[in-house]
Amino acid sequence: MWELADRYQLFVGGEWKDAASGERFDVINPATEEVVATVPNAGPKDIQEAIDKAAAAQVAWAETVAAERGKILSRAAALMHERVEDLARVMTLEEGKPLAESRGEIAYAASFLEWFAEEGRRIYGDTIPSSSPNKRILVLKRPVGVTAAITPWNFPAAMITRKLGPALAAGCTMVIKPSELTPLSALEIAKILEEAGLPKGVVSVVVGTDAPAIGQEIMRDFRVRKVSFTGSTEVGKILMRQAADTMKKVSFELGGHAPFIVFGDADIDAAVENAVASKMRGMGETCVSANRIYVQRSVVEEFTAKMSERLGRMQVGNGLEEGITVGPLIEPAAVEKVDRHVQDAVAKGATIVLGGQRPAASKGYFYAPTVISGVNEKMLVMQEETFGPVAAIVPFDDEDEVIAKANNTRYGLAAYYFTRDIGRVFRLAEQLEYGILGANDGMPSTAQAPFGGVKESGLGREGSKYGIEEYVDIKYISLGGIQK
Ligand code: ADP
Repeated sequence: MWELADRYQLFVGGEWKDAASGERFDVINPATEEVVATVPNAGPKDIQEAIDKAAAAQVAWAETVAAERGKILSRAAALMHERVEDLARVMTLEEGKPLAESRGEIAYAASFLEWFAEEGRRIYGDTIPSSSPNKRILVLKRPVGVTAAITPWNFPAAMITRKLGPALAAGCTMVIKPSELTPLSALEIAKILEEAGLPKGVVSVVVGTDAPAIGQEIMRDFRVRKVSFTGSTEVGKILMRQAADTMKKVSFELGGHAPFIVFGDADIDAAVENAVASKMRGMGETCVSANRIYVQRSVVEEFTAKMSERLGRMQVGNGLEEGITVGPLIEPAAVEKVDRHVQDAVAKGATIVLGGQRPAASKGYFYAPTVISGVNEKMLVMQEETFGPVAAIVPFDDEDEVIAKANNTRYGLAAYYFTRDIGRVFRLAEQLEYGILGANDGMPSTAQAPFGGVKESGLGREGSKYGIEEYVDIKYISLGGIQK
């Protein structure tokens, strides 16, 4: 029977090793506050070694044919499916999400490897008609070289494979720096890549608590030609500034503040189901989570009642237990932020319809599913990402008003709207300033679609044929001497 290792090691250049400093740190289960395992505490030296090994492996990996690289990705995906129970358990232990959601994430994570295993064969070039009879113009796409991924804790596996899939498929090596809160899933993925036959050095996974120091080491190294980051807008801005010194290619998936708009003509039951899914996935700790729920006045009462009834039925507790549908938040600071948002809304006149407090659990970072009504634009919940299980419901009267309110933010990741009016579906798609639009759909993320934001929600796209473009450079060959 499989057992969780209590002492993990780093995966650097194909070897399992301790940190250069010899230090280790604890990974905490947010449902019980107990130590799940310990991991080496890597620093700049370990990152340096990982980059050295990636640079040494880069040429041979780029020369490996796409079909061969694809086979390794497919084998890794198959291993993830085979081990879904073990991987889901590790994820729930370190992140808290209920087991069913962890299983779903493992399948979602594997889907990026599967998709890009195929897509790597289709990195097509171009030929362009020349202006001279003596010349021909050819366009090639080549891997950018060594890349790095800095990933968050809320999707401990999928945010890695969404970067790793296209990088490996395109012929790039990658150094991965996962969140210090969820390093175990990342190290389990490293084991799988090793078993799938990935050559040594092509991928390293380096975990450590001093993220700014590790980040700086990655950003200042000229050999790293691309960095893909998922996390807060604040850290994204730091990395963008640091990237300037070596002119790295960057892609950023940053914060969101998703509006979820329900018109009076919508299928209200479908809108409620999708709002619950979008709001409660990962306990509301996702960048595409419905954060501002605008409901047309004619249906606001019905929607609020149905949403409260659905959230009221959810079971809060340790995600490893049967029947639990809401796990803990990631850390105490997350609970404090959610509570601050709720208290601020109440102080400014909102009404708590459901929840609004920490449940009576002796241990763990829990917050009850919460619905607040009578919310207005002055409240913190309407200005910042809450990243928790709080449904803030705001009534609106007409389409132009709600579009203006929805766009009144520096974020632009995902927006959702529910209506049966086909003209309105297109008007909103064109006018909402967001990269991802869920029109009658609260769960739009999938491997073959381009995920990403506009404004301060990020740069670049992940997943789909667009996602692989982030890992290639265009080269143009001007071929002369054609005529006899
Ligand atoms: P979140 O709010 O989702 O935790 P963060 O942006 O703080 O998002 O973290 C996302 C990832 O960025 C994590 O892997 C974290 O360790 C890393 N990180 C945090 N601060 C920095 C930094 N200054 N430089 C590089 N990486 C960082």
